[in-house]
Amino acid sequence: MSLRQSGAPSPRSVTLAISCESMRLVLLAAAAALLAAAQTPRPLRIIAIGAHPDDCDIKFAGTAYKMAHAGHAVKFLSVTNGDAGHREMGGGMLARRRYLETQESARRAGIAEYEVLDNHDGELTPNLEVRRQIIRSIRRWKADIVIAPRPNDYHPDHRYTGVLVQDAAYMVVVPNVTPDVPPIENNPIFLYYQDNFQKPAPFRPDIVVAIDDVWQQKVNALDAHVSQFYEWLPWVDHRLNEVPKDPAARKQWLSQLRIQRLSDAARATLVRRYGDAKAKSIEKTESFELCEYGKQPTLAELDRIFPQ
Ligand SMILES: [Zn+2]
Repeated sequence: MSLRQSGAPSPRSVTLAISCESMRLVLLAAAAALLAAAQTPRPLRIIAIGAHPDDCDIKFAGTAYKMAHAGHAVKFLSVTNGDAGHREMGGGMLARRRYLETQESARRAGIAEYEVLDNHDGELTPNLEVRRQIIRSIRRWKADIVIAPRPNDYHPDHRYTGVLVQDAAYMVVVPNVTPDVPPIENNPIFLYYQDNFQKPAPFRPDIVVAIDDVWQQKVNALDAHVSQFYEWLPWVDHRLNEVPKDPAARKQWLSQLRIQRLSDAARATLVRRYGDAKAKSIEKTESFELCEYGKQPTLAELDRIFPQ
């Protein structure tokens, strides 16, 4: 009696059975990988826009550091080149110095890119040319999140940067506007930086991020802007004589100067987000308000998007 006749499987059928089992395992592994990929949030692309080559750093460097180190792509964009705000230098030489400071700040904050548009400092207006520059920048970055100043501020460059980003908020999805760069597929989430202006309405802190754990990294980024924080701003505030000469001492001075008191509204958001006990121990924060234009996430979604 042959093996075949005894009912034992032929070598060919054994091979087929092994192949089927291997295929089943491969398919299972592929399905598991697809499921894992679907459950792993895609890295976000964030563009923070400011009027001057230090504005994004002041308002967002702590949260930016956290998001960049969580794997998200973070870019800062200055709409002017900073060529006016100084008492001893100006023009191209100052713009060049300010640009180099942005690149050092970006390195220290760990963000992907710091772009500076070549518009004059102190002369920004909400015109079509700059609106198109901003539309292109948001599109090229394929931004999921855009952060900018509110359009009420003491400084016209800040105010018009707010207006320009609002003006771009819908146009980034319109193909026939600035057709040299393809439109963005989904309208991003637009947010405002924190400010203290009360008219026409006070800032509303929809999301507050604790940055005590990255405060030193934020100060390190600010410290890169030597021409701003140790020269121009103290001069215009009549406190130039307070700036220590020693680099470590002046960084410590800057750190103390930049700590902001938390508003009652921000404290309430902080308690909602972190719980009462933890919120009590938090001293340094960055807050953001959801803009009415663009994608409208729920507060729960914002809580998930922003780092703790
Ligand atoms: Zn500024």
